[in-house]
Amino acid sequence: MTDLGTPVLDDHLHLDADNRGIDAVEDFVHLGGTHLLVVNKPSWHHGVEADEGEDFRPVFEETIRLVEEASEILPGRAWPVLGVHPGLISRLVDDRDFAPEDAGELMRAGIDVAAEYASDGHAVALKSGRPHYDVSDAVWEASNEVIRHACTRAAETGVALQLHTEATEDLTDVAEWAEDAGLPPERVVKHYASGELDGVTKSVMCEKDYLETAVEVGEPFLMETDFVDDADRPGAVMGPKTVPRRVRWLQEQGHDDAIRVAHVETPEAVYGIDTRATLDE
Ligand SMILES: [Zn+2]
Repeated sequence: MTDLGTPVLDDHLHLDADNRGIDAVEDFVHLGGTHLLVVNKPSWHHGVEADEGEDFRPVFEETIRLVEEASEILPGRAWPVLGVHPGLISRLVDDRDFAPEDAGELMRAGIDVAAEYASDGHAVALKSGRPHYDVSDAVWEASNEVIRHACTRAAETGVALQLHTEATEDLTDVAEWAEDAGLPPERVVKHYASGELDGVTKSVMCEKDYLETAVEVGEPFLMETDFVDDADRPGAVMGPKTVPRRVRWLQEQGHDDAIRVAHVETPEAVYGIDTRATLDE
């Protein structure tokens, strides 16, 4: 087992007990990984076709269960991130004939259930967002309403908010909505980010050139793989070993300050988690 001498956090990955599940966590640990933020898979990947907010509950329960299992083998621990995948709106509107505003209402209800778990201490962040592909104005507007609602719930609950959005280096619009809701914009995280981002905190995909940019820019950032743990798409995204590998690569370049930013300081500022203290637990 590798010890990189620092906490090593993957800020966004998924686990699926029917696929690699805890084996993926073992791979992560073997290369020097210590902490994980585990995001629930999209509800329909669990065969859940939601009709009301309560229908998301088994999806969240499964993520919480996997986090407990992962924490047992991690040198640090894992935490859940719970919410509603923004792609759900297209499934509801295109496949189930929902009006965009009704789809939005169902998704907000799912966020409410996630916030309930968060207020009980079972999640450090909510998850929301808007489609990364072209959609109608009505779907776009309904998705933005869901984001605003998630900002409000995160603020009330005192947790962070992870967002899935279009590819962009400017989320100052969302930063304003967060501010209006009483959620500090730095507690909003764009997952699947490149090396530069205005408005909210970036969770940088572990491409070397993105990481080089993030180090140069010098602003707070996180590192992630978005490992999907999906047998049908084994090479679709990065594997669970990637964050520890990239930390080692950053160490070789002498970027210890950036590693502390991404794995200690930014996690603390965004989620209120202490990756150093939890290494001993
Ligand atoms: Zn993801």
